[in-house]
Amino acid sequence: MKKRLAAIGQPASRTVVPFQDLRKQDNGLRDEIILAIQEIAESAHFSSGPFVKNFEEAFADEIGVKHCVGVNSGTSALHLALICAGVAAGDEVITVPMTFVATSWAIRYVNAKPVFVDIDPTTYTMDVTQVEEKITSKTKAIVPVHLYGQPVDIAPLKEIADRHGLALIEDAAQAHGATYGNQTVGSFGQSGCFSFYPGKNLGAYGEAGAVVTNDDAIADRLRALRNHAQGKRYHHSELGFNYRMDAIQGAVLAIKLQRLGLWTDQRRKMAMNYERLLQHLPLNLPTEVAGSKHVWHLYVVQHSEREEICAFLEEQGIQTGMHYPIPLHLQKAFADLGHTEGDFPVSEAVARTCFSLPLYPAMTNSQQARVVKALNEYFTQLIFI
Ligand SMILES: *Cc1c(COP(=O)(O)O)cnc(C)c1O
Repeated sequence: MKKRLAAIGQPASRTVVPFQDLRKQDNGLRDEIILAIQEIAESAHFSSGPFVKNFEEAFADEIGVKHCVGVNSGTSALHLALICAGVAAGDEVITVPMTFVATSWAIRYVNAKPVFVDIDPTTYTMDVTQVEEKITSKTKAIVPVHLYGQPVDIAPLKEIADRHGLALIEDAAQAHGATYGNQTVGSFGQSGCFSFYPGKNLGAYGEAGAVVTNDDAIADRLRALRNHAQGKRYHHSELGFNYRMDAIQGAVLAIKLQRLGLWTDQRRKMAMNYERLLQHLPLNLPTEVAGSKHVWHLYVVQHSEREEICAFLEEQGIQTGMHYPIPLHLQKAFADLGHTEGDFPVSEAVARTCFSLPLYPAMTNSQQARVVKALNEYFTQLIFI
């Protein structure tokens, strides 16, 4: 069936619809960005300094928090947030197995144990009703993930965290500007962690991340920790890190931040187009939860024949992604946790059937139309074969 489908498919078009187009992620801002980089070269403020501080202030405003501390990656942001929550060796941290691996790396970096909770099958985020049964005397923190840009159901989660005296640390690496109620994600917990990896909704010209918080003491400690734990030069109060943000990334991010709202609107419009144009197909489409604003970092659909569908799309010159094919509890790196298949059935089902369609602000309507057409063709041929 796979072979025949390929054989009768339309001849592949010459131009590729890429899954993401990072050459276009600066979307008309390149000249302004290059000028800023020249300014950095002139000023020689290469690491941290005024360009980073300027971005930190703007991003704190955007999220609606007192402090933003820029670091060199989203992974470092999570690591430092866990240290500041007092998570240490032997502690347990509740999180999800369906996420990018970095969420659990950070828990491992402080020698704590990730304790997984399955996801909700319609939102793909932490199933908040399963959290309380996982809390033990060793639990120190909860790290939910606003996966694909969809806010987790954070109000009940915050209530649970507060009632049990646990730190709530949001992994908002995929959800810049997403809102729950009338509040922006990242601002609910003790701290919120962001990544500015180039492919994220707000992307740098390289690696960068940030922690946001309303807690003055945590912000001070984060600023010291990222810079070798020096409050005062050459005085090191605890184990520190070189997790500083580059000035170039600060400058790029400050310029691009001004367009984040527009880019989010463009992503939302494209997600609505997919929803409208694909809903008659036998695909499991993602939904936005009422009262929340999804920022569509990824448009993830589900079908049991995803390998065949993705191969067919590839032949039509359409690239797809998979986020994520193996949940963390089944990864070799976490084998010592002793999990087996069947432990988190919803995450496993999504991992088996998920694939991601191209969706990014620079994508054109005709590119999106090609994705829709190809999917229609796949299912039409299946019926008439
Ligand atoms: C990208 C990502 C991270 C890590 O960010 P980096 O900047 O790549 O280190 C963490 N969590 C999630 C959910 C992510 O998508």
